[in-house]
Amino acid sequence: MKCPACGSCEHQILKSKGKLTKELLLKCEECGNVYRETMESPRPMEVRIIISKFDESLKKWASFKPDEILEVGDVLEIGDERVRITSLENKRNARVMESMVEDLISIWAVSVDIPARVGVSVDLHGRVLSRKVELDRDFTFKVGDVVKMGRTIFRIKTIKTLERRMRRGFAYADVTKRVYGIPVSERRYDYDLTMNVVT
Ligand SMILES: [Zn+2]
Repeated sequence: MKCPACGSCEHQILKSKGKLTKELLLKCEECGNVYRETMESPRPMEVRIIISKFDESLKKWASFKPDEILEVGDVLEIGDERVRITSLENKRNARVMESMVEDLISIWAVSVDIPARVGVSVDLHGRVLSRKVELDRDFTFKVGDVVKMGRTIFRIKTIKTLERRMRRGFAYADVTKRVYGIPVSERRYDYDLTMNVVT
């Protein structure tokens, strides 16, 4: 933005109004001339979004404002679907927890309109009991939890999420692929997944 009187680009913003199109009242720092300018806000840009639903993943494109900041955990409306961001990949091929849209190449997300489906494997000394359970997406698994499933009671040893294998801590069901457990002899348990078993 150049001053129409002297051509200087140095200015002070006296007033700014409007959102998509900003109307600015500027004062030239060189000659003191006061002038008006309008400024279009940057056009929306398309970013690839990979949405996982159970075992499949769908690629879509979504448009965002380039200066919008996205964060892992944010819920977005993509078409008629609500999805939660699980990972963001920027132009330097790094996975980040938050980023401006203009730095992103991909957004990873999970659909939040359907229950999470999580695998459960319990090592019964040589034989592995393997089931799938469906849970609310914000259900949390914690390493060390004692869980009842049918007649088996087991303790969670590891949690495999979309990103990594965890031997401590907790994870939301919507980013958990599988939990691994070993049977325990105690009869007390933290929760019962018997009714959540689907296969
Ligand atoms: Zn000027």
